Amino acid sequence: MISAKKHNKSQKRFSLNKVFTSAFSVLFLIFLSLTISVYYQLNTFRAALESSLLDSIPTIISFDSIANRSERLVFYTEKLSTADSHPALRIANKKIQSELNQIEEQLRAAKLDEVVLKEYEAIKFELDELDDLVTLRLETNQKASDVERKLYALFDEAKALSATISKATGTSSSSWFEEFSQLTIMSANLMSADKLNQIRKSSQKIRNKYAYIQTIQPAYLGERLSTLNADFQDIVLGEQGLINLRVKQLRIKGRTTGRGNFTEKLVSDFARALNFKSAVINKKILANAQNEKETIDLQIRLLGFFVFICIVLFGFIAWQLRQRVIVRLIGLNNYVSQFDRKFLNTKLKDEISDIALTFDSYVDTIEQQKKELSQLAMQDGLTKIANRRAFDKLFLNTFDLAKRNKQALSILLIDVDFFKMYNDEYGHIKGDEALIAVATTLKQSLKREVDLIARYGGEEFVCLLPNCDHEGACKVAEDLRLAIETLKEPHKSSSVAEHITISIGGATIRNTEVSSISPQFMLKEADIALYRVKSKGRNAVQVSRL
Ligand code: GH3
Ligand code: MG
Ligand code: MG
Repeated sequence: MISAKKHNKSQKRFSLNKVFTSAFSVLFLIFLSLTISVYYQLNTFRAALESSLLDSIPTIISFDSIANRSERLVFYTEKLSTADSHPALRIANKKIQSELNQIEEQLRAAKLDEVVLKEYEAIKFELDELDDLVTLRLETNQKASDVERKLYALFDEAKALSATISKATGTSSSSWFEEFSQLTIMSANLMSADKLNQIRKSSQKIRNKYAYIQTIQPAYLGERLSTLNADFQDIVLGEQGLINLRVKQLRIKGRTTGRGNFTEKLVSDFARALNFKSAVINKKILANAQNEKETIDLQIRLLGFFVFICIVLFGFIAWQLRQRVIVRLIGLNNYVSQFDRKFLNTKLKDEISDIALTFDSYVDTIEQQKKELSQLAMQDGLTKIANRRAFDKLFLNTFDLAKRNKQALSILLIDVDFFKMYNDEYGHIKGDEALIAVATTLKQSLKREVDLIARYGGEEFVCLLPNCDHEGACKVAEDLRLAIETLKEPHKSSSVAEHITISIGGATIRNTEVSSISPQFMLKEADIALYRVKSKGRNAVQVSRL
């Protein structure tokens, strides 16, 4: 088996499998982390957006709306506290109730904290109280108006009584009536007094005046007068009299104003608190948005950086793929198809270089085998010198070359003498050995590199002598004959000597360019010369000039 052992030891080996698995793993990890990071960031962004859009912004809107409604509530509270009739009170109450309902609904939707809800409950409570007070004030006002009307009716009655007395008695009651008139005016004036102290003083004066009137009242119609007095007592000085009612009226008015102001302030504070909360949330949203923006900015920069790294890595992998795989596979393919080592790149050590070296080894082996095969085809199996095929091929080439170079050319046909007898005498095996010895000696005897000795067939050899003239050919032939003779290989049954001898017949063309002789003719002429040598007794040489 051929193994790729031509690795350069200094070159570190990087397995393609490892290189590309690592590169793609790194790429995959970067992509994975990018995806996870983008997913995570988008989720965070979505949560922030959700918190702003679905939570905070509606809260701000409802806060603002509640605050606006609260401001309207302040207005209606004022209307309530200053209501001077039942219809006005009803209208104010209706408006207040409607605003309260809306506020309550929005408060519930806005999921506010306990403090705000308690403040709202307090406002409701105060508004209820204010409503009660205003109702009481209106009732008291009504009572006061009723009593005032009764006072004027009493005055009319007193006036009529005074006229009756004058008519009946003929006496004037003008001083009593005058005093009574003053008393009525003093009492009526109470309604315009708006200070308790003033009322207290006026009421004392009224009591004094009333006591004085008792002393000057006319005696006629005494019973009628006493009823009048009792009525006055009831209307002005009684439990439900004008004085008490006016005092009550002023007190309720004070309380209503106080409570109204307090409630208005409470509602205003409530609206302000909501406005403040809304501003706080606004600020928080802005801060969150700023934070998110900064985080997203950073993420975008990071993303850009990672994408850049990925592109660089992709480029690097593509380049590596080209350099390490594609280019080398193309080179390997060229090498395999053209057997040209320049296409072979084994500098990098990996699976492809393994394949390349294995191919290289195969190519080497094939080349070697080709060489061996061609050598075998051109070699004689027994004597290991060139065979007839090799001679034929070389002879034709040499013939052409000689013709082109205008050179001389000689060939020698060599035949072992009485070799049949040798075989008969010593046997075939010995015969083979003798042929090997003859071939080897002949080959060694040739001096020029370009000269060739080949086995022509059986016990015949042929010698090709390029650029060798007749003289040279005769000399070489004689040298060869002598060399075999000197070998002294015993041949008892030879008739020409006691050892193996050879006969040589040759042919020389002096100038191949001008000659029309063919290689075949040259061979034939050499054979004729050999035949002549044989005929003359053998162990001799003869070279024909052509
Ligand atoms: P001549 O001197 O006229 O050449 O006589 P010769 O006996 O050599 O010639 P011939 O052509 O009659 O005989 C040639 C013999 O050479 C026949 C054969 O026995 C022998 N021979 C041919 N090839 C081989 C071979 O490869 N091995 C052996 N041992 N003998 C061979
Ligand atoms: Mg022969
Ligand atoms: Mg022979």
